[in-house]
Amino acid sequence: MKEVYYGFSDQVLTDSGGKMHIRFDSVSEDDINNASSIDKIIEKDSIIIDITVEKEKIHEYILDLPKRKRIENRWFKISRNGDDLNAIFHNCNRAQNIPENIKICNPRYLAPTEDIFKKILKIFKCPDQKTIPKALENEISITSDPACVKCVNVGQGNCNIILNEEGCPLYYYDFGCRIGRDAKSYPINDDFCFPSTAFVVLSHWHLDHFINFKKHPDVLKLKWIVPPLGQYSIGKTHLELIYNLMENNNLFLLDNQRQRLNTKHFEILSLKKWGTNKNNSGLVMFIKLPHEGSFNVLLPGDASYKHIPLGFNLNGLVASHHGGRTCKNDKFPSACPTRNIIAYSYGKDNIYKHPIQKVVENLENAGWRNRYDTLVNGDIYIPQGTNAEKNHKVIKVYKQI
Ligand SMILES: [Zn+2]
Ligand SMILES: [Zn+2]
Repeated sequence: MKEVYYGFSDQVLTDSGGKMHIRFDSVSEDDINNASSIDKIIEKDSIIIDITVEKEKIHEYILDLPKRKRIENRWFKISRNGDDLNAIFHNCNRAQNIPENIKICNPRYLAPTEDIFKKILKIFKCPDQKTIPKALENEISITSDPACVKCVNVGQGNCNIILNEEGCPLYYYDFGCRIGRDAKSYPINDDFCFPSTAFVVLSHWHLDHFINFKKHPDVLKLKWIVPPLGQYSIGKTHLELIYNLMENNNLFLLDNQRQRLNTKHFEILSLKKWGTNKNNSGLVMFIKLPHEGSFNVLLPGDASYKHIPLGFNLNGLVASHHGGRTCKNDKFPSACPTRNIIAYSYGKDNIYKHPIQKVVENLENAGWRNRYDTLVNGDIYIPQGTNAEKNHKVIKVYKQI
């Protein structure tokens, strides 16, 4: 018997070899048929289905796909136990969390005229963004100055924590981790603490930047500042995050093009209104670390550097898009020649081959010489050797006892 799923194409990435990697955030057909309300559907399992196909043959692999249709942010029917394509199946709700290799039938594009699509759209509709409160400076309480940025080793994904001198988290930028085909079994850091005054800034709506809330639901007790959503549909896991946060009045939107949220020690910049490219429709963050003279860190998420206006010298950078390609002819930000550190956040044997050698070279040419990689170095502290880092490690050891 074929198990049927409906998948929202959260991420589509074509590599330099012409291979297209598609990630579906999926729900089972039974769960959709039995969904009496949104509350019921968000309790169901989040199933990640990853496939890799040749871009040239995409219309052979995906049935009924209209010509020139973008593949990202659409809905597809996917049947398990087929013979057509290799896929990775990862149930993110199960405790063991181990992805399986499976065979599926060719996914089929769901046309807007189909009844099942209409049903899906009713459930997975973006909430009216006018009803989400705007992120304002007075919503966030900064209890102390930032002292360093920790780029957490979460495998292929992103999670950065801004720590104070005592080593306590002030705020998070992204709360993602490895999933699907990237969820290989090797140790990654999984030790988080969530002081009630901390908050989360989400860079953009790709799953590898926020899905760790499934494993650490306490993060939903914090306020989240998020970029605009699409106009029509979102995936199951996106819906789960949004509704959980809305229920606790913890969801705040920073949506206007070039809108900035400015405080003494950081700035959040909204790149633009939601466009077709999620990576460039998000929030980037500048951190100014006062204890280190003027040590400025840029957290770009997966955005192209050329979309980020740089007002000052940079000392620290978490490389955009895990060191992958951002766009053609990107403008790489220059590093301060006397003091700089760059962190690359990516996972072992990731299929996208991040970081891309050419991108690393471009960043080196822009002056970024002190390189650290989460895969090699584990958690990375920017800058290195601060009291914040030492205190944070002590807190962690203490917590483990
Ligand atoms: Zn992304
Ligand atoms: Zn990413």
